[in-house]
Amino acid sequence: MSDARLAPERLEARSAEIGGGLTIRRALPNRQRRTVGAWCFLDHAGPVEFAAGGGMHVGPHPHIGLQTFTWMIEGEVVHRDSLGNEQVITPGQVNLMTAGEGIAHAEDSMPGRAGRLHAAQLWIALPEGERRRPPAFRNYPQLPLVRSGGFDVRVLAGSAFGQVSPAEVYSPLVGLDFAAAGAAALSVPLTATFEHAALALSGAASVAGEALAPGTVLYFGPGREELALRTEGAARILLIGGTPFGEEILVWWNFVARTREEIASATRDWNAGRFGAVYGSPSPPLTAPDPAGLNLRPAPPGVT
Ligand code: MN
Repeated sequence: MSDARLAPERLEARSAEIGGGLTIRRALPNRQRRTVGAWCFLDHAGPVEFAAGGGMHVGPHPHIGLQTFTWMIEGEVVHRDSLGNEQVITPGQVNLMTAGEGIAHAEDSMPGRAGRLHAAQLWIALPEGERRRPPAFRNYPQLPLVRSGGFDVRVLAGSAFGQVSPAEVYSPLVGLDFAAAGAAALSVPLTATFEHAALALSGAASVAGEALAPGTVLYFGPGREELALRTEGAARILLIGGTPFGEEILVWWNFVARTREEIASATRDWNAGRFGAVYGSPSPPLTAPDPAGLNLRPAPPGVT
């Protein structure tokens, strides 16, 4: 595209450490861009090989005001939450936890077992009318698959290529995984009112003529009707999008809220044990940072 209005923004992910000493790439929030549609957080973990006891170990911690959306590419992680759910997520599956008014969970790789891990974990900000809904958790064992242009396309969220993801979300958005075993090329039809971001999960790709490799995100503003994807070899691309989120949100630690008082209140609730217990995680519970630092920190120090 030669139209400057349609030129993408290039965002760099930064490294962050989550529980268990696992280093991930955090693509959202980003200094340049806090949200893409309602997607307000994007961690890319791995691909990594770990020894027994390693992998992901994020002990019990709370969430409010968001959905956590986990896309598992390689490996297995056990999700446990304060509603009593215990769910192993395996490759090709999505775990979707709706925090709403509040939930606590823990995520652990299999104890005592070496393995591999490759996953994306995203958060979806809940809009004002939905953000206090009761908490819920669901595992989606199978997402719609479309084969086109050399890509296996998984419709993780929203709809594309005539397929609709069963994942229950509360604002107009899309999440697509494009996996190519070799050279591939595809024109992806977009919802023109959505903004989008593309992230390379593995390998190298060209997106709308722009080179993309892991660690970098290409952001595309609204107004596009298609996106050309091309790979020369094996590669995997995550594409997310949605209607620009019109509400000012405050993302602090594991909370998505609107005001500092809500963050302070959620922190007090967590410290007082009012989120409910998470049983069975081998990892210790996380301590909330002091929300007094809220004015000073431009980005959440948090974990997923
Ligand atoms: Mn979490």
